[in-house]
Amino acid sequence: MLRLRTFLRRHILWVGFLAVIVPLLCILALQYRSLNELKKTSTVAQHVWMKNYLSDVSKEVKYFYKSNAEQTLTTPASALQAEGEPKANYLFGKCDVEGAKLLFVAAFRGKDPAEVYFYNPANNKKTIVPSSSEARAVNLAIAPLNILSQEETPKDSPGLLVDEYDPENRVILKAIKNDARQVVGVSGMIIDTEYFRKVYLPRAIQQSLPKFFPDDAQDNIIVTVHDSNGQRVLATQEFKGQDDETTTGLPFFSDWRLGIRSRHMTPEQWARWNFNVSISLSALMTVMLLGGIVLALRTASREIRLSQMKADFVSNVSHELRTPLSSIRVFGEFLKLGRVKDEEKICEYGQYIETESRRLTQLINNILDFSKIESGRKTYQFERTGITELVGETLKTFDVQFKQQGFSIIFETPRTPLPQAIVDTDALAQAFINLLDNAVKYSGDAKQIHVRLGQKEDFLTISVTDHGIGIPREEQSKIFDKFYRVSTGLVHDVKGSGLGLSLVAHIVKAHHGRVTVESEPGRGSTFTIELPEASRVHGEEEKTRGMVGGEPALTLEARH
Ligand code: ADP
Repeated sequence: MLRLRTFLRRHILWVGFLAVIVPLLCILALQYRSLNELKKTSTVAQHVWMKNYLSDVSKEVKYFYKSNAEQTLTTPASALQAEGEPKANYLFGKCDVEGAKLLFVAAFRGKDPAEVYFYNPANNKKTIVPSSSEARAVNLAIAPLNILSQEETPKDSPGLLVDEYDPENRVILKAIKNDARQVVGVSGMIIDTEYFRKVYLPRAIQQSLPKFFPDDAQDNIIVTVHDSNGQRVLATQEFKGQDDETTTGLPFFSDWRLGIRSRHMTPEQWARWNFNVSISLSALMTVMLLGGIVLALRTASREIRLSQMKADFVSNVSHELRTPLSSIRVFGEFLKLGRVKDEEKICEYGQYIETESRRLTQLINNILDFSKIESGRKTYQFERTGITELVGETLKTFDVQFKQQGFSIIFETPRTPLPQAIVDTDALAQAFINLLDNAVKYSGDAKQIHVRLGQKEDFLTISVTDHGIGIPREEQSKIFDKFYRVSTGLVHDVKGSGLGLSLVAHIVKAHHGRVTVESEPGRGSTFTIELPEASRVHGEEEKTRGMVGGEPALTLEARH
């Protein structure tokens, strides 16, 4: 249990990552399955929907002609009893029959062929002469009923009959029966094909559309009608592209095909497209989520590392403060109690106290400057200065300390005097001291330090070389980060705050320069500060120009 808890605590980021990624992948897999199902059902649903639409139009057509025929073809048997043309003026139930080309009444008086009378549907009282094809179509249509009328025992005859033998003259018939239920004649109509094609069918198609498709989807729907020869007789809009169509027949026009298709895609294509879009969006969302998680985990791991570094920093700084303080207290007590009489010893103790105090001051300065930089309150006072003097004077103040610690410092300057630079003298001295301090701390037994001044293109260089423990290559880019300390090799034994180099980097950046490191483990390191010459700085109001938060007020030429 304890082991598990320790494992979880140590690998908290990975555990968190897995805790999110595993359910996420499961959700994605489930979504893939359900989208796949949806793809299948939506294809079927679309087909069914289209079929429903077609059957609705068919029903409308059927209802229209059936109700028309039933209301019109109401000729009573009594109108046919006399010889010759039926005389009654109520031969047809209504005048001006919509969708009919001709009305007719046939009287079966035991004769073959029957006597047929044609009427204009706009005024059913007036007989007219039909064309030969119309007459032929009617005669063919009524023949079976005429045969039926000659039978002795009446048989049940259907109510409405349709004869589509002649596609141009489709006939609707209704048997006229006497009281003995015998067929004595027929009334009927010839369907007006032109009217059906040009007026009624487009109207029926349009009326049914909104019942099945929302307004904005109707543009994507194409309804077509093809006749018996496969000729297109109607299309709701011009169409190109896919040809896949759902079709059905039409009542009274059973050899015609009513069809529907979506303009751009078949239901299968649409379902596939929808599936692809949904799955791609989900995948994209997952990737973005994973990106976010990775970013959050990275930030969290950085925060954890930083907080670990801060904890180390506090312990290191406490140690750094306590050691010199206790030495100072001990030497101070010796001097106060007057136990040390020897002049030389007194001087040595005094120097020791001075050196330790200086180290303390340096440490506190670093901490204060770091806090100013962090809060954006660090300001710089730039002025034209010779760096040879600045470096020389700084080295002089450390003379005694170096001697005490057994260090020899070799200070090399170029033969020709170096040009001046525009610098904040205190800040630059502090950066240099930090490099010097590190050289001393990490020198080990190789107690020789080189300080070189030089010139590289338009830049002045200050380099500090030691022959100590060196820095592994992979650590060299990290040592300028705040609180960062190399955690391998000898450096374990050396206490430090992890702030020195981050301050150096900040100060040098504020001077529009840079700091570099060359190092080899076991052979030593060279840190070099590069600063632009004063002549490269324009608008040289260098005296007391302030700079806040690391951005100097001076403008510098771009580096080559
Ligand atoms: P510290 O107070 O730990 O010295 P710095 O920011 O000055 O903090 O340095 C960061 C780390 O870089 C040090 O902990 C050390 O590991 C490494 N370092 C700096 N200077 C040297 C050097 N001259 N030789 C070897 N390692 C160095």
